[in-house]
Amino acid sequence: MNFFDKKYIFTPGPVRMYKETLKLGSVQTPYFRNEEFSKVLIECENMIIELANAPRGSKVVFLAASGTAGMEASVINFLGKNDKAIVVNGGDFGKRFADICSCQNIDFEEWKVVNDNLENIENFKINRDVTHFLVNAHETSVGLLFNLKAIGYFCKKHNLLNIVDAISMFVTDEIDMQKHNIDVMIASSHKGLALPPGLTFLVLSPNAINKIQASDSYYFNLKSYLSNGSRGQTPFTPTVTIILQLHQRLRCILKKGIKNEIAHTKNMAEYFRSNLKSFPLSFYSCHMPNSMTILKVSDQVDALDLVDKLEKESGVIVCPNGGSLKNKVFRVSHMGNMNKEYIDVLINALSRYYEKQ
Ligand SMILES: *Cc1c(COP(=O)(O)O)cnc(C)c1O
Repeated sequence: MNFFDKKYIFTPGPVRMYKETLKLGSVQTPYFRNEEFSKVLIECENMIIELANAPRGSKVVFLAASGTAGMEASVINFLGKNDKAIVVNGGDFGKRFADICSCQNIDFEEWKVVNDNLENIENFKINRDVTHFLVNAHETSVGLLFNLKAIGYFCKKHNLLNIVDAISMFVTDEIDMQKHNIDVMIASSHKGLALPPGLTFLVLSPNAINKIQASDSYYFNLKSYLSNGSRGQTPFTPTVTIILQLHQRLRCILKKGIKNEIAHTKNMAEYFRSNLKSFPLSFYSCHMPNSMTILKVSDQVDALDLVDKLEKESGVIVCPNGGSLKNKVFRVSHMGNMNKEYIDVLINALSRYYEKQ
């Protein structure tokens, strides 16, 4: 047992992992430029395509990097000097897409939204020169889940390449690349998949593959990933161990069925939310995903103090917010290896905290 084992983790990445994942993490990393590893990578690709219901002919690109690299790689490879993006900015991660576009000199307009899941996206004005749509399916900073169906319909109607950061909702909330008309889906290892951080992947529809543009980036040149990917390899050293862990997790999720996997997270979220009635807490977001609950404290309580005391007094780690919300809200993840007994630890810790108030 080490320091971290004694903690109960409820953060939206990293999340509580499964025993099988931990076991795979404890063995020697194998060499990977061989057929054995290629087979694993190709099986991962096929399983991801199935889980995302990506269109026939879709490909998966595996990056050894955190989620933000997947966001930047999408901007670099799909947007050029003659393009213009709509960036949905519902919080910190939407702002990150805007910052990436600024950094890469890509023209964009920002849609700043508050507690609006874009189900009425038809009411938004769109300029003729817009070519791309960038959105974080779940804006993790404020627990806002966007309406992917409405967005997909809008993108189709206006002929926009639809790039969706699904990092904090893939396998915990529904996403369907065909039904939601998604061209690029970004996901990451350390959220719903419950793996260590470091692996990010992009699922590219055939339409997206046709629209890859020449870029200045060496490491994020998607064409090179695609040509290596056709034989189950990556241009540079992949996150070998995390890919083995991913393979195991994907098989497990497919065996259980993606609908059941999502239903489990939903049950966990509902169990947690239904046990909050005795606390002076309210839901901050009107459009919460299954993957996370964001709670607002009453005026008498400082959210940072609550977060701090839960950890110090009960070993429970929930997630504080930054910026103007830092004293008002905190976040609780339902991703990964959750069950009612584990959630009870958090509920009991909240009881202890509020008893002392
Ligand atoms: C966690 C997360 C990311 C990735 O952040 P990294 O720190 O780069 O891994 C990106 N988008 C969303 C919506 C996220 O929740």
